[in-house]
Amino acid sequence: MNGLQNKQKKIGLFLSVLAIFVVSSFCMRYDGKPKTVDFLGIEILNVSLMGVCQSIIYLLAILMVCIDYKIGKTISILILIILDIRSVIIIALTGNYGPLPGVVNGLISIFSILLISTFFAKAEKAKYTDELTGALNKSGFLKEVDRLIDKGKFRYVIFLKLKNFRSISDRLGHDYGDAALKTMTERMKEVVSDDGIVCRIDGTEFAIGVHGYIGAGKLCTRLIDRISECLEFTIDEASVKCYINAFAGVASYPDDASDSKTLLKYADIAMYNVKEKHTSNIGYFNANALNRITKQVETVRLIKDSLENNYFYLVYQPQYTVQDKKLRGFETLIRCKLPNQTIVSPGDFIPVAEQTDLIQKIDEYVLERAMREFKPVLEKTGGKYIISVNVSAKSMSDKDFVDKLALMLEKTGFPPYALEIEITEYSLAESREQTIENVTVLRKLGIHIALDDFGTGYTSLAQLVNLPINVLKIDKSLIDDINSKDSAIELIEAVIYMGHLMDCYIISEGVEKQEQVDILKKHKCDFIQGYVWGKPMDYEEALKLVK
Ligand code: C2E
Ligand code: CA
Ligand code: CA
Repeated sequence: MNGLQNKQKKIGLFLSVLAIFVVSSFCMRYDGKPKTVDFLGIEILNVSLMGVCQSIIYLLAILMVCIDYKIGKTISILILIILDIRSVIIIALTGNYGPLPGVVNGLISIFSILLISTFFAKAEKAKYTDELTGALNKSGFLKEVDRLIDKGKFRYVIFLKLKNFRSISDRLGHDYGDAALKTMTERMKEVVSDDGIVCRIDGTEFAIGVHGYIGAGKLCTRLIDRISECLEFTIDEASVKCYINAFAGVASYPDDASDSKTLLKYADIAMYNVKEKHTSNIGYFNANALNRITKQVETVRLIKDSLENNYFYLVYQPQYTVQDKKLRGFETLIRCKLPNQTIVSPGDFIPVAEQTDLIQKIDEYVLERAMREFKPVLEKTGGKYIISVNVSAKSMSDKDFVDKLALMLEKTGFPPYALEIEITEYSLAESREQTIENVTVLRKLGIHIALDDFGTGYTSLAQLVNLPINVLKIDKSLIDDINSKDSAIELIEAVIYMGHLMDCYIISEGVEKQEQVDILKKHKCDFIQGYVWGKPMDYEEALKLVK
């Protein structure tokens, strides 16, 4: 497409130049003396013919500027100047001022062409520039990288994604978010200097095209170091410090790809891959990264299809009191059944969904379906069971989540006190303030909040204490060893004790053996969920259990 357009441009320019030369050759015959000339058998005044020729030249010049404002401007101004100089020489030699209006006309034409080409230059700049930061935008970046590749002067693309950025926008508002983006762009430009070009792709994603001799690893490290430096704002005379970090992915020319679009895509894949692995901040494109992404794209398709065609359904795993094995309620767990009857487990699609906004759609789907399925059961049994639903960090840190949930409760008529939401400490990492606010409001509504997978994360206890949860779910990995290791028993004992101090009920998850039940009973764990007393079951089986 681009190639074809370039060819058409070149032909257009060539024809215009040819036409200008033909018309100009008529002008060249004019010697400043008015007389009648024979034009295609008609007698015309040579001065009038000149006027027409000049108008045609002017029109062709504008046409050339429209085709390519840079080349068009140079060629047409050159021709107009030559014609004007010739007329001035004629005036000087003959003392006849007849060609003077033509000279003025030529100067006005030059001025008009300069104006028009300035307008085109501005329009082109706007088309290829990011409005907020003034860096190149994606189209500008691709164009510039292709130009550098054509010149044989290109080396690699770095794809950069800012980390922890949302906390600034959420905490301080969009104006400060914008200011932070501008500062980040300036920092990147300063580090990259003359070795390359900086572009803002979208949101918090940037790309750097490098033609200098600096190594990719060194440049990425410098960029990330500079980005991570403290960002300070003065708000109401108080100084507010923010810290941003970044992930970088690199794709090299010509080893990984030989055109701008593929290089950018591969650098993005390399960045995405490294972001997923949590091991480093800098990644390089390779075939493994590409395979992973291809698989992810397939999974995203599966999730979208499943949401559209209702392939998702819920299974329910019972939770019991440890002391007397009374049914407390169920944890809902999502499954996906494809038309060919294959069942896909959440471990295969939830992590992918979590990378996109699809996880929020899944959360809403599960919440609403669980409420609809269990509302009649609660009515029949007097509402004493608790239905626990897993909610992702993304939803839990979303400021609209509480309103959405309140609307669902109203729509389904589900009693809030029979609903439990399982969150993980990753919600705190997404946006701490918003998560705490959401949890606080939900607790006020009477909804139970359980902290899932306790014992697997890194969040400090001091932070967890601020989260007004009322249930702590001890992760299977802590339960696994309690029947064989004394130290594991001591740890569980301490966790249960601490949970009770935090005014939480304790649920032990993944309990598979009777010995584990006995130990948990001894140490006053409140509830048990595990294969020992019940695997996840479908809706009908869960109903039978309730009855
Ligand atoms: P989770 O929330 O920690 O769920 C517990 C997982 O442990 C479930 O796996 C459950 O089947 C399994 N499990 C329970 N007891 C035992 C046991 O005694 N032994 C063993 N080996 N496993 C046991 P599942 O259903 O495959 O879910 C895996 C994860 O997927 C869940 O971990 C949760 O993080 C996520 N997930 C599942 N359903 C949903 C959902 O509806 N929404 C969201 N956002 N995430 C979900
Ligand atoms: Ca869970
Ligand atoms: Ca869990």
